[in-house]
Amino acid sequence: MSDITFLGLGLMGSALAETIIKAGHDVVVWNRNPSKAEALVAMGAQYVSDPAEAIDASPIAVVCVGNYDAADSFLRTPESLAALKGRVLVQLTSGSARAGRSTQAWAKEAGAMYLDGGIMAYPSDIGTTESMFLVAGDEDGYAQAEPFLRILAPKLEYLGDDPARASALFLAMLSAECGLMFGILNGAALCEATGIPSSQFTDLIKSDFGTSGDGYLENAIKYENNDLDKTEAFLRTWAEGLDPMAEMMEDAGYNPDFPKFLRSVLNVAIERGWGEQDIGALIKVLRPN
Ligand code: NAP
Repeated sequence: MSDITFLGLGLMGSALAETIIKAGHDVVVWNRNPSKAEALVAMGAQYVSDPAEAIDASPIAVVCVGNYDAADSFLRTPESLAALKGRVLVQLTSGSARAGRSTQAWAKEAGAMYLDGGIMAYPSDIGTTESMFLVAGDEDGYAQAEPFLRILAPKLEYLGDDPARASALFLAMLSAECGLMFGILNGAALCEATGIPSSQFTDLIKSDFGTSGDGYLENAIKYENNDLDKTEAFLRTWAEGLDPMAEMMEDAGYNPDFPKFLRSVLNVAIERGWGEQDIGALIKVLRPN
């Protein structure tokens, strides 16, 4: 039996698997598009072409895909259900409280332990002291998965049994980040429209906000160097994170206008073919046609 299985090898899933391989563990990987496993196999991972067999191969299965519907398409099958018995399922896909609680109940029926995690890091941060995960779910499952999670995220916070706590805190941070990113890009558009150099604007942000916003600032103004095709998080991944945010607010009877509005602006960028660019591509939506 291998030590751990990773299902979903996009920008984030590949970084997770790579970090655990480099730490010397036996790793099984699966991705819908097998070509994304090639680099990991070259590093020593074993690729298993069937998701249920991949789950069966290790005591811990980590899922990191675009959204919960994508995860359900290979998890909620009779074969995966059978394979999950006695395993720990760690869901690192961003999702809502409802999705996390429903997956926990479903996993319990399958005889599995369930953990829900929010990744507070970019792929290049994984395994470094910058990496933070917010995790909630079954305590015994956490005890089993903790050594691996701590390799991935030295700043690891366990928030108790209810998976909704990890979703809510993760989405709260995403909400703050989106506000900052959208706000900076909107401000950059205002400066651009008036002929003010963006450096004057960013210098002002730095002196007003201090260094705490540096990472966001650096990311938000990537559009300036035509660096939009190089990214650690696709614009569509930011967009997909807004759906569970709106869902959670609606479920709780709160006003979901903020995530819905941001989603509608990002949808325009996706329709124009910029979904796999950096979030800085948003400025192209704000500019005159
Ligand atoms: P990504 O690069 O777009 O990768 C998406 C992954 O989902 C790919 O492995 C893709 O498989 C898989 N997938 C999509 N639809 C599928 C389906 N119907 N069936 C099976 N697999 C499917 O996205 P990412 O950046 O890795 O993000 C993954 C998760 O991590 C998201 O929930 C995101 O919110 C979270 N996250 C990411 C970051 C970041 O900085 N990137 C930070 C925090 C949290 P294919 O290759 O076959 O298309």
